[in-house]
Amino acid sequence: MPNKVVIDPGHGGADSGAIGNGIIEKDLTLKISQYMKKRLEDLGIETSITRDSDITLEPTNRTKKVQEFYGKGSDVLVVSNHINAGGGDGAEIIYALRNNDKLSSLIAKEFINNGQNVRKYYQRRLPSDSSKDYYYMLRNTPNNESIIVEYGFLDGSGDDVVLLKNNYEQLTEGVVKAIANYLNVPYSLPNSNGLYIVKKGDTLWSIARLNNTTVDEIKRLNNLKTNSLTIGQQLILNETTTPDTNTYTVESGDTLYKIANQYNVSVDKIKELNNLNNNILSVGQKLIIPSSNYPVEEPIEIKNYYIVKPGDTLYQIAIKSNTTVEDIKKQNNLISNTLTIGQQLQIPTKTQYTTYTVINGDSLYSIARKFNTTVNNLISINNLATTNLSIGQKLLIPS
Ligand SMILES: [Zn+2]
Repeated sequence: MPNKVVIDPGHGGADSGAIGNGIIEKDLTLKISQYMKKRLEDLGIETSITRDSDITLEPTNRTKKVQEFYGKGSDVLVVSNHINAGGGDGAEIIYALRNNDKLSSLIAKEFINNGQNVRKYYQRRLPSDSSKDYYYMLRNTPNNESIIVEYGFLDGSGDDVVLLKNNYEQLTEGVVKAIANYLNVPYSLPNSNGLYIVKKGDTLWSIARLNNTTVDEIKRLNNLKTNSLTIGQQLILNETTTPDTNTYTVESGDTLYKIANQYNVSVDKIKELNNLNNNILSVGQKLIIPSSNYPVEEPIEIKNYYIVKPGDTLYQIAIKSNTTVEDIKKQNNLISNTLTIGQQLQIPTKTQYTTYTVINGDSLYSIARKFNTTVNNLISINNLATTNLSIGQKLLIPS
């Protein structure tokens, strides 16, 4: 079973790989691979990369390099990242003749979870010698567990180009998750909001020292009773990253008014969050309490720009932008209705948001998928300090 990973960004230097629709394979495979390396290391997995810049690697040098990092054994997983061309649609994973399809099937599942369809995962044989792998990266790394991942078609007929350009990190994150599961390493989401993910070799003391805090403070913030940590565990390192909601257990003599006052929130807010129809509480009842940075639910105003084209009038622009001439004039300090071609106008528009209440089993990923948005988008719209969700939490969803 592998416990180390060598990542191989396909092509490089004089060999650009496929090119199309503004995507150059060697550049995208490098970005994907660097993201993958960082994330696998975040999860405590020992990882190396065959190239970390735009250099040429001949096939012989490349496979030699792969085996120089951790040797030629089956304890090494080799992941060669590529972008497909030829006009198809979807991802492909090719695994070596000597290996089974377990990892490939996990990766395929993650692609699908992240909105990318999978054409197939398969093995391919050399026509001149069917006992050998077709691809040299699989053929010439004979005891390593080796796979080639094709993330999509840069000249694809479906949504591949958009996914490769805008969602390559999310697709790669899925592969990272599949690898972590396959290697039996606890997986946690990327640390985008100040949460610290425990790595191999970390101690509370080393984390405290590197982050300018103290062991006692970390223990207090995370309610830790002992000093032991597990790899992949997420730690709050300072007050500002505490979750957006707390749970409060009702005590004898409590009223909604008293609790609301204590947490500096409104009674209505607590009722809404907990689906309460009246003000009656029972001792022992658990309430979700929003913290003061809890997201607002009023539609948020987002300013758009419009560039005036020949023939445009303020009236037409207002109708098109679902606003009024008066509002556009006010927003842009216009004293007359005269426009010049190329003029930039700020258009006041209301972007509509709906709210979604988190239920058991939800993750930011599943919610993003459900509403056709991205995890990063949800984090920024909702000003989330953590990727952990609590049941009953309300999220703003762009509509
Ligand atoms: Zn390639």
